[in-house]
Amino acid sequence: MCTRPGNWEIRAACRGVASSVFFSPDGERGIARARRESGAREICHDCPVLAQCRDHALSNGEPYGIWGGMTEADRRRHTRTLRRGQH
Ligand code: SF4
Repeated sequence: MCTRPGNWEIRAACRGVASSVFFSPDGERGIARARRESGAREICHDCPVLAQCRDHALSNGEPYGIWGGMTEADRRRHTRTLRRGQH
């Protein structure tokens, strides 16, 4: 079951959804990964706590999984962009 930290997780759209939808198994690649991520993002799309979830992941440097509709690669890009803006 997918669980998220914080007092906002009780309203999470992913509550009760298998964590394997949001976190990749070892060795997952290509189309399988893209499909899983797309399914997870659809759940996030209408989630009432998307902003809190995304903020949590970005401020805590969550390395794995989909958080607030962002993949691991999305978060890395976001962080790089922020760092570039600080220089
Ligand atoms: S934004 Fe996505 S990962 Fe975050 S709590 Fe909502 S459904 Fe779960």
